Amino acid sequence: MGEVIDLPAPVTILKGVKNARAGQLAKLGVINVEDIYTLYPVSYEDRSAVRKICELRAGEQASVCAYVRSSASKRINAGVTVTNVNIYDETGSMSVSIFTGRYQAQPLRTGELYAFYGKITEDGYGKHIINPAISHYDGKWDADFFSVQPVYPLTKGLTQNMMRRIAAEALRAAPPSYETVPKSILRKYGLPGRAYAVRNVHFPESAAAAGISRRRFKFEELFTMQLMLLLAKRASENSCGGIRFDSPEGRRAADELIRTLPFELSEGQKSVWSEISANMESPAAMNRLVLGDVGSGKTVLAVLAMLKAVKCGCQAVYMAPTEILAEQHYENIRNMLAPCGVRVILITGSLGAKEKREALSLAESGEAQCIIGTHALIQPSVRYKKLGLAVTDEQHRFGVKQRAMLAEQGNTPDVLVMTATPIPRTLALILYGDMDISVLKTLPRGRQPVRTYALEDSMHERIYDMILRLTSEGRQVYMVYPLIESGDDPSLRSAEESFAELSKTVFRGVPCGLIHGKMSSGEKDAVMRDFKENRIKILFATTVVEVGVDVPNASLMVIENAERFGLAQLHQLRGRVGRGPYRSYCVLFSGKITERMKIMESVSDGFTLSEKDLELRGPGDFFGVEQHGLPPLKIANLYEDADILAMSTQAAGYVLGHMSEYEDYINYIKRLYPGRIPL
Ligand code: ADP
Ligand code: MG
Repeated sequence: MGEVIDLPAPVTILKGVKNARAGQLAKLGVINVEDIYTLYPVSYEDRSAVRKICELRAGEQASVCAYVRSSASKRINAGVTVTNVNIYDETGSMSVSIFTGRYQAQPLRTGELYAFYGKITEDGYGKHIINPAISHYDGKWDADFFSVQPVYPLTKGLTQNMMRRIAAEALRAAPPSYETVPKSILRKYGLPGRAYAVRNVHFPESAAAAGISRRRFKFEELFTMQLMLLLAKRASENSCGGIRFDSPEGRRAADELIRTLPFELSEGQKSVWSEISANMESPAAMNRLVLGDVGSGKTVLAVLAMLKAVKCGCQAVYMAPTEILAEQHYENIRNMLAPCGVRVILITGSLGAKEKREALSLAESGEAQCIIGTHALIQPSVRYKKLGLAVTDEQHRFGVKQRAMLAEQGNTPDVLVMTATPIPRTLALILYGDMDISVLKTLPRGRQPVRTYALEDSMHERIYDMILRLTSEGRQVYMVYPLIESGDDPSLRSAEESFAELSKTVFRGVPCGLIHGKMSSGEKDAVMRDFKENRIKILFATTVVEVGVDVPNASLMVIENAERFGLAQLHQLRGRVGRGPYRSYCVLFSGKITERMKIMESVSDGFTLSEKDLELRGPGDFFGVEQHGLPPLKIANLYEDADILAMSTQAAGYVLGHMSEYEDYINYIKRLYPGRIPL
């Protein structure tokens, strides 16, 4: 056996891994030897099932043992040689093609027996395998050849065989020496120990051994993630660093604002507000996520919370994901709060030097009570007199790190996160296990759902007529495209090209504009402002208009190549219309009308859509896994591994209920997720 190496050891200690190879491995996220353990194979080649030639089916991967009848190489061009081999067994014959570089491959010996593994194809001439793995029978078979082989993710310059050698060498030189899940938990759920599982994830004894080993690592990934979230939640509940926003003044001001709103709060808004309010009044710091569909009225809840904080003598910040949205919220929030005697300011990157200096000094002196902006608001350069509340829009997770940064200035602010990304509730509870969750289910009364039509491309003329009619009535229209500029695929429409063409023909005389992600943020802002102020009637766009843009006068959203977008994205886009008093429409153009398009037509509520999407696509990414702000999952899949998720939820709950027994393990989890759990 090889020497045991203290970890973490860089991959260069492995035989055959020099700097160039280490660079390639680094591209796969592999820096240390131990990282190779978690470079999980994406699939396996099961070469153990050996078939006769007559049993081989086109499309499958299979092993076949056969004699060579003939083997001939020829050069097809300067760089490539092909060796054509005819093989046979007692049930038939077939051909094998081996492509090699400049150097000719060893020809196979006529009359000798070989094993071949690869993908079977079939055409009028018979069955073929191209570039199979090959092993010669020299009185005995190489048993390794017929084993289950890992298939790794690769990067340029790294072949499957190199990767297999490196993995084997890593396991030899540095076999796993410690356990990373409590043994009692492994026993309870019938999962194998780490040493066995690492070995069998990479070089399984059998397909079943690979299966159970993968299961263990999926479990481990989900279990540690959930444990981390639960520990973070418990720590923040126990902290007494929060602020009690419980002055009667604060309560009175919020009630007064509710009374003077131009609308009555919906039942959903009322109940979420009471949850927020109770959180703010308690001494523990708030960490609450409000899940509310587009248009459900989250902003007013944020405004109420900010007002309450301000009237209790603190400052409040509101962070938007983009400058356009920050400005929009600034207008909005200032309109609501200024009459309550609250000083609201805006801080963005596009402020001039003088304005910026002024804004920063207002924040530091405390004169500015409510500060709206982008993520820049929580940079150390922005100082606050007494920050009590941070509201973030579509930021998904306000981390321990950001909180700590603000806490350095004196307080642990309450945090309120708003998101319109619809997530099935079951998943939300897990992914946001460190937060309290409020769900704003109902839309404000009287809001009409956006009428959605899935249409085939042949209906374009009709919709152009509709656009002309709506714009002549004073409304505005979004046209959304999957591409900025036209590419290789002629079936995909682009924003630039359509803008150039349609604004000069069908829509001549109607002011049109173009916005996409390659424009500078200054250019984008200018276009958005023109659209908001109704100087542009038809906006040709890419998905940059997806999040949060509010132009109540827009009443039609046309989406081209709708089949290219996920349901979540379509729903977000659709949410850009129907924000004002006008009857609004969403038109989804696609080559053919799919099941998903029909669902968009019939379902208007984002949460129902997210459940449907889950059913329909399984491993889809309704919301990207990264979006929830946790380290990416390497092996588990939140959708496919629902049963393992349930097991790990139970196990994490158990450990939390028996903290004293698991003290060492909990310390290990804290080291595993640095900066995510307050210590
Ligand atoms: P979102 O949840 O997408 O952020 P907004 O807060 O922007 O939604 O609200 C969308 C629109 O609905 C705004 O124009 C807002 O003034 C309005 N609104 C919010 N609550 C109500 C209500 N209870 N009744 C009527 N209109 C409301
Ligand atoms: Mg909003």
